[in-house]
Amino acid sequence: MVRKRDKIIADNNKSKAVEENTLDSNLIDLLEKKYGSLWKTIWPEEYTFKDPFKNLIITILSQNTSEANCIRAYEGLAVKFDVTPQSLSGADESEIKESIRSGGLYNVKAKRIREVSRAVLEKFGGDLASALDLPKEEAKKKLMELPGIGDKTADVLLTSRYSYQKVIPIDTHFERVAKRIGLVDRVADYNTIQKALMHFLPEEKRAQLSGLLWLFAKNTCKTKNPKCYECPLAQICEYKNKKGWGK
Ligand code: SF4
Repeated sequence: MVRKRDKIIADNNKSKAVEENTLDSNLIDLLEKKYGSLWKTIWPEEYTFKDPFKNLIITILSQNTSEANCIRAYEGLAVKFDVTPQSLSGADESEIKESIRSGGLYNVKAKRIREVSRAVLEKFGGDLASALDLPKEEAKKKLMELPGIGDKTADVLLTSRYSYQKVIPIDTHFERVAKRIGLVDRVADYNTIQKALMHFLPEEKRAQLSGLLWLFAKNTCKTKNPKCYECPLAQICEYKNKKGWGK
């Protein structure tokens, strides 16, 4: 069960974060058992980069495609180019397109890759580490000055410095789970969801748990037809209780 669940803050129209909610160790065990072995098969270790620029490029490639296609596209790019702002800013856009074709939306992504590479050169002298050396909030603001970089991508870049223990980038999967479970209201914004999830996942295991929760969202708490009948978090889920599943 979730501890202190009774303290949910009811606030009729405003976003509500259940800040006191923390995932209980029994549910952590269930998540570990069910999804622990999946992580490495979906996202091989070598594609979690320490280099923030590589993280930026793979995040662009990951948009609206599967993990497998994203990795294929990244490999295609890396075979043809050095994945550096210097190399990609001067590359021919049509050649970038060709190299990332397997990732889908390659026209848009190739353009973005070139634009952002140029901006990293111009604003940061080609080295994102200079932004990441700033205090976390300042660093995020700086990174968001880059074209096409919103909260989520800036947070992915911050993980290069702070790891997933200190930063959870909120994508649609985390957002869906947080809203369904009832950690936040349906209208909650990015920062509210992030704050609630940071509380929900205990810090000492947060890096690993954020991966497990993401797998849980992709495989069980799916956008369409969530598998509530086999859900390890069903007992704490508001969505399921509203629908009356499992009763
Ligand atoms: S019970 Fe259903 S809706 Fe709720 S978290 Fe589980 S899978 Fe998602």
